[in-house]
Amino acid sequence: MRFASLASGSKGNCLVVEAGVSRLLVDCGLAPREAERRLARLGLAPADLSAIVLTHEHDDHASGAFAFAARHGLELCMTRGTQRALQESAGPASGIATRLVDARTPFAVGDLELRPFTVPHDAREPVQYVLSDGARRLGVLTDIGAPTRHVEETLSGCDGLVLECNHDLEMLWGGSYPKWLKERIAGPFGHLANSQSEHLLAALDRSRLKHVVAAHLSEQNNRPGLARAALARALGCAEHWVGLASQDEGFGWRALE
Ligand SMILES: [Zn+2]
Ligand SMILES: [Zn+2]
Repeated sequence: MRFASLASGSKGNCLVVEAGVSRLLVDCGLAPREAERRLARLGLAPADLSAIVLTHEHDDHASGAFAFAARHGLELCMTRGTQRALQESAGPASGIATRLVDARTPFAVGDLELRPFTVPHDAREPVQYVLSDGARRLGVLTDIGAPTRHVEETLSGCDGLVLECNHDLEMLWGGSYPKWLKERIAGPFGHLANSQSEHLLAALDRSRLKHVVAAHLSEQNNRPGLARAALARALGCAEHWVGLASQDEGFGWRALE
């Protein structure tokens, strides 16, 4: 099982996960041509994918999903709330095979098992996922206002984690965003601060953990060094061991073995 990212941040998110012969995208917040170009960097073509799994309807996660799925005949998996929100903004997903995700029910896409879990975030019915090949587990967590006990339990014991480090609180409050936006981002349905991610990571069972990637960093309100330092503190490791997902590059393949 391995994973990589095409993009991560408020201008677009797209994660690639592979197990056996199965590959899928978690979110598609890139224009189709850009997603195709970035897939090629990983040695993949759209025909190598079988599905797009959405976390929620926000543009940075779903803006390219309908177009990319339609263009390449991919199944689109999402909660009913996400589907409704997208249909209201983009119209019906005509010609796309959709599968409704229930936030309490695991499902499979080929060789990949997905366990969705609910998160507090200001979207209609947001979920995040633990993906598994049956032996290894990759936890994905971005776009969450505050960690919950449910999230802690779900992400404990993972082999790899892609973990939101959205902002540094001091940079956010001292920055140029309008007050309402600062309050939204820092609020209980917004995004994780570095310090929240650090505390969440420290609270998890990390006994199997081999990969941690800091993701969804704000370009305005965070610095890669601050995010890495926070997660390294929780892990008691050197900062360079913590991976970094960037807006332009995402990150290259990482193997869970
Ligand atoms: Zn987002
Ligand atoms: Zn969001």
